[in-house]
Amino acid sequence: MKPVEYKVSFVPCSTRPIRYDADLCIGCNRCVSVCQCDILLPSAKKGEHPIVMYPGECYYCGACVMVCPRPGAITLTHPLMNQAKFVPVVK
Ligand code: SF4
Ligand code: SF4
Repeated sequence: MKPVEYKVSFVPCSTRPIRYDADLCIGCNRCVSVCQCDILLPSAKKGEHPIVMYPGECYYCGACVMVCPRPGAITLTHPLMNQAKFVPVVK
């Protein structure tokens, strides 16, 4: 059967929720499989880290980081709004 080629374009986005460390990632694609939003795509090259295709769709569940067998290979950065801690003021 003739292989089918797909061409996809990156979706511009102001956030970068997922970052890969190319030195640590072994390209096992577990993070791709676990993401329920299909944000990540496997790399066309075997052994390379996946591609963050739709960063704006990430809802920061952290499943991709938890399933990774190589600590540090994938990093999730929450947006500034989500990092805020609201501390009650005692008077
Ligand atoms: S944090 Fe959740 S939604 Fe975002 S890429 Fe990882 S698995 Fe997908
Ligand atoms: S980031 Fe982790 S889970 Fe994802 S492909 Fe790389 S090694 Fe595998």
